Amino acid sequence: MFTLPVLPYDQAALEPQISAKTISFHYGKHHQTYIDNLNKLITGTDLENESLESIIVKTAGQADKIAIFNNAAQHYNHSFFWQCLRPVAQKMEPSEKLVAALTASFGSLDNFYAEFKTAALGQFGSGWVWLVKDGESLKIMKTANADTPIAHNLKPLFVLDVWEHAYYLDYQNRRADFAEAILKNLINWEFIEKNL
Ligand code: MN
Repeated sequence: MFTLPVLPYDQAALEPQISAKTISFHYGKHHQTYIDNLNKLITGTDLENESLESIIVKTAGQADKIAIFNNAAQHYNHSFFWQCLRPVAQKMEPSEKLVAALTASFGSLDNFYAEFKTAALGQFGSGWVWLVKDGESLKIMKTANADTPIAHNLKPLFVLDVWEHAYYLDYQNRRADFAEAILKNLINWEFIEKNL
């Protein structure tokens, strides 16, 4: 049985960029519901004792397993997303090594921000925008709905949830303002570097 991972910070710690109210719904309700649905769907099946990553890889692209894939991938994506963020009060800059890696792939740190934001605005409807490692280079990737890089054999380094439930209470329809606020204030660079 899968359970909700403990948040690495207090629910109000991401304010003012993400309110405690948003976290209480996004983490406490949306994420919990994906976990509850996943547990119901796999109980009594041959996937019951598999790891989350294994369930995602085994059900990806299978029309008759789409509900399991969606809920497993959403559990994975949200668990990853919480780790990508840190409170604004916890000052953090990307290390020289990380800036060098981003510069090698995107030209500059500013270009990385710009390309990521463009991707966040360009994802039509619900989905996720990722920084992924593809071989030795870093790439920005958009995925729709629950889709996730690990279903495509790519290693995620950072993600932004661009489903409306991630920002609607705080930003209403202003996805650009949400993306800008997160990119400029809440990126957990140490988490990215740990996986680099
Ligand atoms: Mn979400």
